[in-house]
Amino acid sequence: MSAMAEPAEGGRFGEFGGLFLPESLVPACQELEAGFRTAWADAGFRDEYFGILRDYAGRPTPVTECHRLSERLGVRVLLKREDLTHTGSHKINNVIGQALLTRRMGKQRVIAETGAGQHGVATATACALFGLDCVVYMGEVDVERQALNVFRMKLLGAEVRPVGSGSRTLKDAINEAMRDWVASVESTHYCLGSVMGPHPYPWMVREFQRIIGEEARDQCRAILDGDDPDYVVACVGGGSNAAGTFAGFVDTRSKLIGVEPAGGAAIGHGVPGVVHGSKSFLLQDEHGQVLEAHSISAGLDYPGVGPEHAYLSSIGRARYVAAADGEVLEALQLLARTEGIIPALEPAHAVAWLVRAAGTDELPAGSTVMLTMSGRGDKDAEQVMGLLG
Ligand SMILES: *Cc1c(COP(=O)(O)O)cnc(C)c1O
Repeated sequence: MSAMAEPAEGGRFGEFGGLFLPESLVPACQELEAGFRTAWADAGFRDEYFGILRDYAGRPTPVTECHRLSERLGVRVLLKREDLTHTGSHKINNVIGQALLTRRMGKQRVIAETGAGQHGVATATACALFGLDCVVYMGEVDVERQALNVFRMKLLGAEVRPVGSGSRTLKDAINEAMRDWVASVESTHYCLGSVMGPHPYPWMVREFQRIIGEEARDQCRAILDGDDPDYVVACVGGGSNAAGTFAGFVDTRSKLIGVEPAGGAAIGHGVPGVVHGSKSFLLQDEHGQVLEAHSISAGLDYPGVGPEHAYLSSIGRARYVAAADGEVLEALQLLARTEGIIPALEPAHAVAWLVRAAGTDELPAGSTVMLTMSGRGDKDAEQVMGLLG
């Protein structure tokens, strides 16, 4: 059986995953699981979903062979181009799926929480497309830091609710969104942005992102005369672009590598624990307090990681490594100059590992590597300008 099949009873990936929530939210998750299960088994639902990804989001995205970078690094590099989708990242695959599911479950309202704002913008986009009411919770600090994304969400017709409690960041926005959901579950779907949270989210979001890996596997075989790449690499924040990518390759001989930010390496430096509804690895201090993650990439700035990655690590099917801020900035510039592709800071972490590992035992010279370019760098250009001074 595939290492990335459906999770076991109760949403378990080995000892990880599950559903750890207040009693009041358990029926909502059960309803969602049943709704997703029947939708995903329904050819009509899948046809509509894939049709929208084709005609609206621009799928399939290409796989690009990087000739100049390959020559430079001594390994053959292929990029899966999620940066070329509508809205500029893989997040669109997930929100289109969840918006379609919302409509199918007879609900008219969607809530989401966002830190850097990217998931909020993606959710607002999908809600506009389907005419759904959209409320996005965002910590006051993030509202200030991400003024442009707040404006984008408003342009798209969403209501942004600033959260003033606690540290006024993502964690507080999550709590507020949960509170809303408890009170509104009859009419409202909670749109989660990664392979995180209680069952069925880690499974459902991975299935909505599976298209990345399925497309990439076939495209790589066309380029590599039927062979699979030696290595498949993706950055890991919550882990959705990596999970979708790995799902397409988990049953091949490809080695799977997830790249976390050095300042938020939940698998690298975390401990098992329960956070936001499921069991996984998370960053904690010696008193069991959840630590803040630190990274130049706001999209990877999260102290936890999706439970299926904890599982894939525990069985040795995927390996998780880290990249530090400095090498990420170097890698971003290298890809820009050699290939004319400015990556988002998140996938620049994956590129940083590639640059560091190429030609070592970790990634021997002559290997073929498929790397998921999860998003484009436009959103980060101003920040990178400041960092490079
Ligand atoms: C949000 C984001 C990520 C991190 O999310 P995952 O769930 O780990 O994929 C990575 N890359 C880009 C471009 C993003 O916008």
